[in-house]
Amino acid sequence: MALVVKKFGGSSVATTEKIMSVAKRILGEKKPDDKIVVVVSAMGDSTDNLIKLAEGIDEEPYKAGYSRELDMLLTTGEQVSIALLAMAFQKLGQPAISLTGGMVGMRTNSVHTKGRILGISPERVHEELDKGKVVVVAGFQGVDRFGDPVTLGRGGSDTSAVALAGALKADACEIYTDVDGVYSADPRIVKNAKKMREITYFEMLEMARLGAGVMQPRSVEMGQYFNMPIHVRSTFTDKPGTIIREDYTLEEKDFEIRGVAHDQKVAKIAVLAVSNTPGIAHKIFAALADANIDVDMIVQSIRNIDKNITDMVFTIALDDLPEAKKVVDKVAEEIDAGTVLVEEDVAKVSIVGAGMLGSPGIAARMFGALAHAGINIDIISTSEISVSCLIKGSQITEAVNAIHDEFFPDK
Ligand code: ASP
Ligand code: MG
Repeated sequence: MALVVKKFGGSSVATTEKIMSVAKRILGEKKPDDKIVVVVSAMGDSTDNLIKLAEGIDEEPYKAGYSRELDMLLTTGEQVSIALLAMAFQKLGQPAISLTGGMVGMRTNSVHTKGRILGISPERVHEELDKGKVVVVAGFQGVDRFGDPVTLGRGGSDTSAVALAGALKADACEIYTDVDGVYSADPRIVKNAKKMREITYFEMLEMARLGAGVMQPRSVEMGQYFNMPIHVRSTFTDKPGTIIREDYTLEEKDFEIRGVAHDQKVAKIAVLAVSNTPGIAHKIFAALADANIDVDMIVQSIRNIDKNITDMVFTIALDDLPEAKKVVDKVAEEIDAGTVLVEEDVAKVSIVGAGMLGSPGIAARMFGALAHAGINIDIISTSEISVSCLIKGSQITEAVNAIHDEFFPDK
């Protein structure tokens, strides 16, 4: 007997036919006493469509004030898909029950639209499994201490699934998606990207943080926290995918870097002519933090030593731009800074790999690949296991391919 948590994303449950095939596939693989928990996303583009509805009320539904109602709205998406999938199981003769985030004891903080899981008390799930039911759970949602629905950020169903698998002490956690694993670069833009058999939490977390769309970063953190291996695999085939785990178990280590990630959903803000005195950076970034806006790359450049004036340049998620611009404009006025410039045609390309720790020269090769392709680097940032460059948004495909060719040449 095995307790398995399986997560199916929006494209896997986009129509009732697809929902029916998901149910059939699961039952086809299920051994009689297996316990199955299925976490699902909203059907197809329905989360986007719900956001569009909200935009019919206000062009900027993500601005402060609406976030609770936005969560009330967005959580309906997953409620539709869990009900239909539970019905599909029943139609096939398999007892099943659908449960919302609240019903599975998924407790979150109250940061609407970007909630974090505080704890899970999945007694109800165990009870229903013990009755022989397949339990279908709404991803992407939990409830806060008031009982209000809170969503976990876009793509949050992955996090729901991994956290639930951890809390249930499941034997396996499988994430079914429209790609068949994790690749050395986005296979949609790099033709010869290579599928990995395994990747460590540490590296996957960095890949995800830097834009690799396969998994929501928090889901990987959850996997690491619970030491729950995550199997990322295809909805459409039964080939093995990629296992995200603590350490490599296979001899697949002939790589210098693990992958190339990219992120086009970034924006750059430059606060010009900021006084070079203590407390200025704190004012800008504390205001952004108060608005719950993550700042990524930060550069403070000294452009005029005499005048003691600098420019403060940083990047944020594109979605946060309208709110961030307002926050920064206000601070800029308070600190008597110059113009606040905003640039949306930027993208970030990164290389990731634990192996680069002891290998000087890796970053230089990345810069070389970009230089050969005639791509200018705007900002550079590094972490222990990654190097990132901010470039022009329109050059991202070329950039990712150039860097991938450098580190993963076709043999
Ligand atoms: N339906 C949500 C979204 O589109 C959550 C998810 O798909 O994981 O972001
Ligand atoms: Mg989705």
